[in-house]
Amino acid sequence: MLKIHNSLSGAKEEFKPIKAGEARMYVCGITVYDHIHLGHARMLCAFDLIQRYLRSSGLKVTYVRNITDIDDNIIERAAANGEEWSALARRFTDAMREDCAALGLDAPDLEPRATEYIDEIVVMIKTLIEKGYAYAAGNGDVMYSVRRFADYGRLSGKKIDDLRAGARVQIEDAKHDPLDFVLWKSAKPGEPSWASPWGAGRPGWHIECSAMSTSLLGCHFDLHGGWMDLKFPHHENEIAQSCAACGTPFVNVWMHNGFVRINDEKMSKSLGNFFTVRDVLRTLRDPEVLRYFLISSHYRGPINYSEAQLAQADETLLGLYRALEGASAGGRVDAAALHEFKRVMDDDFNTPEALAVLQGVARELNSAKAAKRAAAAADAAATMRAIGRMLGLLQQDPGAYLKRGAGEPQLADEHIDALVEARTAARAAKNFAEGDRIRAELAAAGILIDDKPGGVTQWRRA
Ligand SMILES: [Zn+2]
Repeated sequence: MLKIHNSLSGAKEEFKPIKAGEARMYVCGITVYDHIHLGHARMLCAFDLIQRYLRSSGLKVTYVRNITDIDDNIIERAAANGEEWSALARRFTDAMREDCAALGLDAPDLEPRATEYIDEIVVMIKTLIEKGYAYAAGNGDVMYSVRRFADYGRLSGKKIDDLRAGARVQIEDAKHDPLDFVLWKSAKPGEPSWASPWGAGRPGWHIECSAMSTSLLGCHFDLHGGWMDLKFPHHENEIAQSCAACGTPFVNVWMHNGFVRINDEKMSKSLGNFFTVRDVLRTLRDPEVLRYFLISSHYRGPINYSEAQLAQADETLLGLYRALEGASAGGRVDAAALHEFKRVMDDDFNTPEALAVLQGVARELNSAKAAKRAAAAADAAATMRAIGRMLGLLQQDPGAYLKRGAGEPQLADEHIDALVEARTAARAAKNFAEGDRIRAELAAAGILIDDKPGGVTQWRRA
């Protein structure tokens, strides 16, 4: 029996599909204005693993993960680059897909882009206005009237009165209530826009997910996921919009994954400990090391990223491939190990325990090899491959994997020093784009840099 922690109830609940044998799942995807970072990678790996496991449990899964291809960040970044917003969004969509492929992620069944759903968004906003949940504000925006939705705050455990007490009223706002949020933003001069009954504009972020999820999965579906910070306000607002527009329940199970911390600190650009997936992958023997690391913690808890942790994941994965090396193919999967794997995964996708099961099988394989029990070794190898497939691990040829080095230094020390100095100068001149470019160049050569307090930058080979 599969149990999943539901953020709505705060408890693990038996998963009961709305339609027997099916699981319909929507995950909030990436806003494509930059390369994806470690936080994104964790979210992507967590829900990839969940959809894999649901499928391997025999459910017919429809996995939808959207792409936000229009928002303020995209418009601002494109303007700064002198690039068309749509070209920037396409470029980073392609880059995201490359990174996802490197991490061994299955492509979602459906990957809608917000700008493909403008008609559905407009229809949903019209419905919300007709039902009295939304209003056209004086400034051309359309707002959702939070006080009209009695259940507001149920997912995040927030109370409307507390939220209102903390909300700042801005004079320029055309809101009836400081908690109201935007459904349709009227276009400023020069901004990309679409026609609507309320004038030219573009959708707010929250409404796009409600429109895309209900268009593709129906008004009421099984699972909705995203990282923890989306619980409020994004997911709270999705519930308010979808339930009000559809007049039905929306999502049965809400799932949220935890943070990535870097050396026990919050990851942020301002702290200089911000890593894109590309930065990290260039330093690794194989992208599978990052995947192993990311799933080695339970998806709901925090995960701490450090060089030491990554080196440990590399070592462990090497050990698993060493075990597989030389074992002959054609073995039978061990039902007891598979049963144990299913038991721990059925407990809210407990991947740390699942990896422990995998390591137990690897130990059996090593003993069988040492005792020259070829048939037992082949069975253990088949079991490792079968469990690995469900986790997105261990599907490579062991010989080829083991030959791969951990990455050689490509730049001389003097050259690295010069690049680090050039980056410091660029940042001092507030040319952060050039600073980021140099950082990326260094990362491409396997050099990681670390900005220390007091303006000192240290570098090291990954
Ligand atoms: Zn969303």
